[in-house]
Amino acid sequence: MNALEVRDLHFAYGARQALCEVSFSLAPGRFSALLGPNGAGKSTLIALLTRLYDLQRGEIHVGGHSLRDAPRAALTRLGVVFQQSTLDLDLNVEQNLRYHAALHGLSRRQTDLRVEAELARQGLGERRREKVRALNGGHRRRVEIARALLHEPRLLLLDEASVGLDPASRLGLNQHVRRLCREHNLSVLWTTHLLDEVHTDDALMILHQGRLVASGQVDTLVQNHDGDLGRLFAGLTRPTATGAPA
Ligand code: ADP
Repeated sequence: MNALEVRDLHFAYGARQALCEVSFSLAPGRFSALLGPNGAGKSTLIALLTRLYDLQRGEIHVGGHSLRDAPRAALTRLGVVFQQSTLDLDLNVEQNLRYHAALHGLSRRQTDLRVEAELARQGLGERRREKVRALNGGHRRRVEIARALLHEPRLLLLDEASVGLDPASRLGLNQHVRRLCREHNLSVLWTTHLLDEVHTDDALMILHQGRLVASGQVDTLVQNHDGDLGRLFAGLTRPTATGAPA
């Protein structure tokens, strides 16, 4: 079963069409990248996937559960790291995780187990008593990933998670998420506007002005573009006069 199915998604902010006829599916246990320039519709798509916005037209299934008809079942299979951090900077790492677990109704015993497991998995065990304010950007992101995975979703969405990080932390975070995907059979949807965060064996979707203009494995997609993702991307994402979906 696919980790995620998106079918014929349309979304408009008033008269402004932000997504048009977007359909794709994510295979389980894979790192999938969603690439698009600013304004392409990535955040709108994430907002629909996480039910921040109601669906206008189209269907989304997470782990086979319809977000429209069975939202609880769908959302429990989803972990999300939003672009804007919502960590409490004055709480320490472990307190942030426990606070989130309490909000989501995990029992004391479940919380103890899950917090320990995620601290270990994210390499944060030694930092558990440090205030988030004292952590660098890369480690703060790891706390957010730990938090997103507390309820053991099978699919992790990251919305431009590397924005604002220095190059070394950006690379480190990307590698870390790939490791999670590989070693824990997690399905990942990584949205970015940075080409160097995408590898040749990734599944890739390119979004441009609200439309999916490419979808497939990177090495296949770049075959007719001298094997160069930059050329493929530049060719597919040339701005049009209106900037709206055609
Ligand atoms: P991305 O995340 O790829 O930068 P967005 O999803 O933020 O793209 O934006 C897609 C389109 O929708 C853009 O044209 C943007 O200007 C428009 N848009 C985004 N949010 C709003 C909003 N709240 N109201 C009106 N238009 C919006």
